[in-house]
Amino acid sequence: KPRSLSGMQPTADSLHLGNYLGALQQWVQLQDSHDALYFIADLHAITVDYDPAQLRSRTRRTAAQFLAAGVDPDRSILFVQSQIAAHPRLSWVLECLTGMGEAARMTQFKDKSAKQERVSVGLLTYPMLMAADILIYDADRVPVGEDQRQHLEISRDLAERFNSRFGKSLVVPEPHIIKQTAKVYDLQEPTAKMSKSASSPLGILNLLDSPKALSKKIKSAVTDTGTEVRFDRDTKPGISNLLTIYSALSGKSIGTLEDEYAGKQYGHLKVDLAEVVVEYFAPIRERTEEYLADPAQLDAILGDGAKRASAIADATVARVYDSVGFLPRV
Ligand code: ATP
Ligand code: MG
Repeated sequence: KPRSLSGMQPTADSLHLGNYLGALQQWVQLQDSHDALYFIADLHAITVDYDPAQLRSRTRRTAAQFLAAGVDPDRSILFVQSQIAAHPRLSWVLECLTGMGEAARMTQFKDKSAKQERVSVGLLTYPMLMAADILIYDADRVPVGEDQRQHLEISRDLAERFNSRFGKSLVVPEPHIIKQTAKVYDLQEPTAKMSKSASSPLGILNLLDSPKALSKKIKSAVTDTGTEVRFDRDTKPGISNLLTIYSALSGKSIGTLEDEYAGKQYGHLKVDLAEVVVEYFAPIRERTEEYLADPAQLDAILGDGAKRASAIADATVARVYDSVGFLPRV
C-alpha cells in the first residue's frame, strides 16, 4: 500500500473548518487505500510564542479532534511529533542541504516572521523539519491545504538533492491537495486563508464552537456588493467562500446551490448554511468531549502510535546517517 502522512500544529484549542476540509477529511478518506500516519506537530508549534501548559492541553485536544473526525488508530498510526526522537535527527541533515536564501524565501516564513516581535531560527528551519517529518516515513502522499504546497515542493527538492548527492534512498512525496477545498477563507476577510493563529475570532469557524457561535459568525460573514448568490472568486469572494463551504458539507454542487438560491438573498443562504454547519460539527464536538474525558486512554493511543512510528523513523535515520558518512554506534 502507498503511504499517506500529514500533521497539524496544536496552536489553538480547536481546529477550524479549513483544517478539516483542506486536510483532516482527506486524512480520514486515505486511511482505506493507504498506510496512514498522522501526527500532532508540537515541535512546529514552538517556532512562535506559546505557553507550555496551553501547548500540553492543545496537543491532547488536537489528538481528540483527529479521533473524533474519524482517524482510526486501528488503521492509522496516530502520534505526537516530539515523542519521536528521529525527526530532529533527520531535520539537521536536511538543514545542512538547504541554502539560507532558499529558506528565507518561503512564503510562510515571510508572513509569520512579519507578525512576530522576535523571529526564531526555528521559524526559518520549519520547512526542513517538515521535510524530515515526511521523508522519514517514506511517505508517498501528503494530504494538506494549498498553503502548504510550497513546503511540499521544498520537501521534494530536498529528497531529490539528498538522493543525487548520497545515492537514491529517500522517497519523493506527492502533495494531495483537493482543489475545491484546498483554501477555505476567513469569513471576515474572504481573501485571506482561515488560520488558527491569524484569523480574528469572528473570521474562523471552529469545530468545537457552540451552535450559537457558529450561527453568529456565519450570519455576520462579510459578503459582497450586489445581491445575487453566484460563485465568482474575483468579484464575490465572500459569497464564493460560503458556497464552497456549503457545497463541501452538504455534498451539493455549487451549480445546484446557485440554482436553489436564484432570486433569493444572501441572508437566506446564510441561515441555511448555519444549519448545515451546526449539524455537521455537532457529532465531532460530542465525540471530542468523550475522548477528552479520558486523557489516560488518549495518552495510551498516542503512546502506541509513537512506538509504531519510532520503529519506522529510526530505521530511516539509520539508513540516512550511514549514507551521509556518520559512524554507526556499536
Ligand atoms: P497556524 O495559523 O498556527 O499556522 P493553521 O490554521 O494554518 O494554523 P496548521 O496546523 O498550520 O493550521 O495546518 C494544518 C493543516 O490545515 C495543513 O494541511 C494546512 O494546509 C491546512 N489548512 C490550514 N488552513 C487552511 C485553510 N484555510 N484552508 C484549507 N486548508 C488549511
Ligand atoms: Mg499554518
